[in-house]
Amino acid sequence: FQDLTQQSEFKQAQKLRNVRYDVRGPIAEEAARLEHAGHRITKLNIGNMAPFGFEAPDSILVDMIKNLPTAQGYSDSQGIYSARTAVAQYYQSRGMRDAEVEDVILGNGVSELITMVLQAMLNPGDEVLIPAPDYPLWTGVTTLAGGRAVHYICDENNRWWPDPEEIESKVTPATKALVLINPNNPTGAVYPREILEAMVDICRRHNLILLADEIYEKITYDDAEAINACTVVRDTGDDVFTITFSGLSKTWRVAGFRSGWILISGPKYRAKNYLEGLTLMSNLRMCPNVPAQHAIQTALGGYQSIDEFIYPGGRLYEQRNAAYKLLSDIEGVKVEQMDGAMYLFPRLDPKIYPIDNDEAFVIELLRQQKILVSHGRAFNWIDDQHFRLVTLPAVEELEEAVAGIADFLADYRDA
Ligand code: PLP
Repeated sequence: FQDLTQQSEFKQAQKLRNVRYDVRGPIAEEAARLEHAGHRITKLNIGNMAPFGFEAPDSILVDMIKNLPTAQGYSDSQGIYSARTAVAQYYQSRGMRDAEVEDVILGNGVSELITMVLQAMLNPGDEVLIPAPDYPLWTGVTTLAGGRAVHYICDENNRWWPDPEEIESKVTPATKALVLINPNNPTGAVYPREILEAMVDICRRHNLILLADEIYEKITYDDAEAINACTVVRDTGDDVFTITFSGLSKTWRVAGFRSGWILISGPKYRAKNYLEGLTLMSNLRMCPNVPAQHAIQTALGGYQSIDEFIYPGGRLYEQRNAAYKLLSDIEGVKVEQMDGAMYLFPRLDPKIYPIDNDEAFVIELLRQQKILVSHGRAFNWIDDQHFRLVTLPAVEELEEAVAGIADFLADYRDA
């Protein structure tokens, strides 16, 4: 008989060694364990709208259902023509007058498109400038693609805006692209035109590709307005190769459909070879989920139902205000009000709450209060004093959850 203990172990590829996506890591595993043991967990860790009662507009569901019989086969690998045209027209209406159907590629969510775009772009050692804190997929996929994520620090004392000088100081001969996330996850920041212009200018002067993740562009509050970075490029010389990312997961609340798009703009003639690589990546995944592509045209046209949620009296608006106030009232908690998206990224004063491992801290909060938030380092943040909370639950549920967090912090103070 063969001695099975002598057989070598099956190991994961070395390229995964430094790839991280901790928002779905040990904290989520511990929550699942507690749920299996019969506990109800309040999940304030993931921006998943539908489970909190933010359901999709009926028109989108009807569209998908009606098109189901004709959506059984593969589509063109870049996506169905009507949906790509709708995306091009959407950006035309935002000032991108020459956006064409050929400039649009559809994907299984922005996530797949980030993966395709970076896999097609990066050689070993190429650097990508990514905000810290970030939406961690950008860092994870850069690493997976063989690149190096170089983080520029967003300034908590200045509305979580990035500092263009600091970004520029991190440019090296190996820098290939600059990622901007606006409105931002996890900080909720919305960048003003001057900052966008400065970021575009850095790309222009250092020959970088601009990667603009704008999935929250329609979720802004009060006077904040999310300006599409590609329009800033267009208005200032149209000389920066830009890829804009967005999709149906947030504004149209159908994250489960996995439907997103990119728009390619700027000097495309300088990117012919890259675009061939991107087309190859698109072909390799055959095509995005076809039924969900049918929802895009309807989503982008006509009445935008997200507006009901983001104005005073709307759920997202009121929950954002409530969460901000409730957290601000806790001793030693400093929180910047968000201008967009649906996240707060509070800071715990290290003098009152000295935390040496924010993941362990969040797991302890989960065990004691059955409340799940994400720790700051999961977003590649630089200290252990932050966590991210989503503002999706109804106000009463937020009140209960933040009271639980306050109790936990009070015990932590007294310990
Ligand atoms: N980009 C940002 C900034 C996000 O916050 C998210 C999801 O939370 C995504 C992309 C991924 O979106 P999708 O569901 O389209 O893959």
